[in-house]
Amino acid sequence: MTGSSHEVLKSVFGFHDFRGVQEQVVDRVLAGRHSLAVMPTGAGKSLCYQLPALLRQGTGLVISPLIALMHDQIRSADALGIRAASLTSADGGRAETENRLRAGGLDLLYVAPERATTGAFRRLIAEIPLALIAIDEAHCVSEWGHDFRPDYRQLRSILDERSDVPRLALTATADARTRSDILAQLGIPDDGLIVAGFDRPNIRYHVEPRNGVAAQLKALLASQEGAGIVYAPSRDKAERIAESLSTARRPALPYHAGLDPSVRAGNQAAFVQSENMVIAATVAFGMGIDKPDVRFVAHAGVPKSIEAYYQETGRAGRDGEPAEAWLFWSASDFATARKRIETEVEPERRQGERERLNALAALVETPNCRRVILLRHFGESPPERCGNCDNCLNPPTTVDATEAARKLLSA
Ligand code: ADP
Ligand code: MG
Repeated sequence: MTGSSHEVLKSVFGFHDFRGVQEQVVDRVLAGRHSLAVMPTGAGKSLCYQLPALLRQGTGLVISPLIALMHDQIRSADALGIRAASLTSADGGRAETENRLRAGGLDLLYVAPERATTGAFRRLIAEIPLALIAIDEAHCVSEWGHDFRPDYRQLRSILDERSDVPRLALTATADARTRSDILAQLGIPDDGLIVAGFDRPNIRYHVEPRNGVAAQLKALLASQEGAGIVYAPSRDKAERIAESLSTARRPALPYHAGLDPSVRAGNQAAFVQSENMVIAATVAFGMGIDKPDVRFVAHAGVPKSIEAYYQETGRAGRDGEPAEAWLFWSASDFATARKRIETEVEPERRQGERERLNALAALVETPNCRRVILLRHFGESPPERCGNCDNCLNPPTTVDATEAARKLLSA
């Protein structure tokens, strides 16, 4: 394909402007340089490799960890007229895909890391011109990250076999240590790191000690219009919260992995369509759900890390209108989470998990701006006060802060 990246952005994707750092990332790939793009969910990471794959000669090879993700991507590529296919155990027509690849008939080829690193796959692509190699969900390469996958470690060898091909690693969640790990593991120079804006200025953050959470949630609902998500720490609690909150005017339904699949899908569909429903859910809820007008997200217990908190609260206010995030915590939540890390997490990953939990404790504990703690975790340097969190709006007295800190430290 010929033309400038702006022309392709319009003609193929139908967008008038790049968003945030997209243009910077695209330009770097077009210049043939290796990069790591850290961009929040929904920021538009896919376009960062799809567009240059169309403009550079050859096929864009995309490493992706999940078949469902690949198939989603291929469906949306198809809709845009981009020629994309995957080679996975779930795909038929493998010979045909390989022939299309050899004939230069694919703009994008998706594979999982475990296939990408096999001898057979390396022989297949050895003679194929590659536009780029994209490594999606790149935090999986880091043992420090929250979702380490050993197969990602093996990718370096195929990257180095094609060292002339620009590589683009992409992730939504990577603290400083995970980032430097990704750069090192994938052979990307430090100046290839591009970090997008993580701030969600329309979300107002509130943190409160938990103290009869059913009553706290009811009070919240009384003051809060619109649809909302309440994250519960267990299936059981999701059920009970749904029951205690549900009213005729404002239904509340549960969502968790223990529900019959048809009930679960029905509850989700009802929520997505509704304007004022509440869904009381475990963390199973939210991935891939596109509801822009969620007005609040409440946590009836602490999430497992600051990154989980960011992701889950980030489901509020995607339409850019004012939205609220409420966290009801107890010192015992942190104690339980710490215990889980020490007993259930593999030893080499414990330190990372501890630090991500501690970052959340710092956010809960601070008498200062909560957003500052959140954004610093993602490598940004925000101004000292955001003006849109509970602490900025209602600065706590020193006594309260010390008390909260004392409780946390003794947990
Ligand atoms: P991510 O992988 O970062 O979570 P996606 O690549 O799935 O995000 O993109 C999220 C949504 O944003 C998609 O619906 C996509 O079409 C849209 N999008 C991407 N880039 C732009 C843009 N420049 N202008 C408008 N919408 C965009
Ligand atoms: Mg993505």
